[in-house]
Amino acid sequence: MSGKAIALSQVDLSLGRGAARVHVLRGISLDVAGGEAVGLVGPSGSGKSTLLMVMAGLERPDSGAVAIEGTDLGRLDEDALAHFRGRRIGIVFQAFHLVPTMTALENVALPLELADKPDAHERARMEMEAVGLGHRLHHYPAQLSGGEQQRVAIARAVAPDPAILVADEPTGNLDEATGRQIIDLLFALKRDRGATLVLVTHDPGLARLCDRTVRLRSGRIEEPVAA
Ligand code: ADP
Ligand code: MG
Repeated sequence: MSGKAIALSQVDLSLGRGAARVHVLRGISLDVAGGEAVGLVGPSGSGKSTLLMVMAGLERPDSGAVAIEGTDLGRLDEDALAHFRGRRIGIVFQAFHLVPTMTALENVALPLELADKPDAHERARMEMEAVGLGHRLHHYPAQLSGGEQQRVAIARAVAPDPAILVADEPTGNLDEATGRQIIDLLFALKRDRGATLVLVTHDPGLARLCDRTVRLRSGRIEEPVAA
């Protein structure tokens, strides 16, 4: 698609209560074009994960607006937001977050079933093959290596054909070689499906693979300094 995939306007968010309350995001405005890959970088605690959750509709800002493909998430009630998220946004976490009591195939089929897609299991099998795990369909997460679990998580994220993929340090729990394979896979799937990617990373090498880098510091976007 062309046009804005993600539009954040003056997003503010505080989390926690009382003395633990933190003003995490401070006046964040950011546009991401359709098909773009953005690397989100910054020191630990700068708000990267929180910003990703806001983009994914998992956290609502206190003020400001979040639009995904022109849909203002603030106008959606909880059910409509969950429905929208399930179809348009794919999320990959550092710690995989697979359902431990479901097989790999069932994990990948779950979002397809929730989105009422026909042939959820057949499509899930194809997604498992696309990530090189056609031979691990009936394994449980605990029976898979970290790299395999992340492949399943990526298959689950892309299965509903989301417009937006967000990934929060997806290689953070993996060794370097496995991490590189996971990144290659993520970028290949993003390209094949024309999705927009926002990738949180500490690794400057990964950030360089992106079209653009956005740097957070203390909840604000740091403007690039001209050389
Ligand atoms: P990053 O991903 O860049 O390391 P986070 O978005 O996880 O940063 O967190 C940003 C800041 O917000 C941190 O100082 C963190 O302690 C604080 N924070 C995050 N979640 C909560 C919460 N639920 N309650 C209170 N503070 C929080
Ligand atoms: Mg984080």
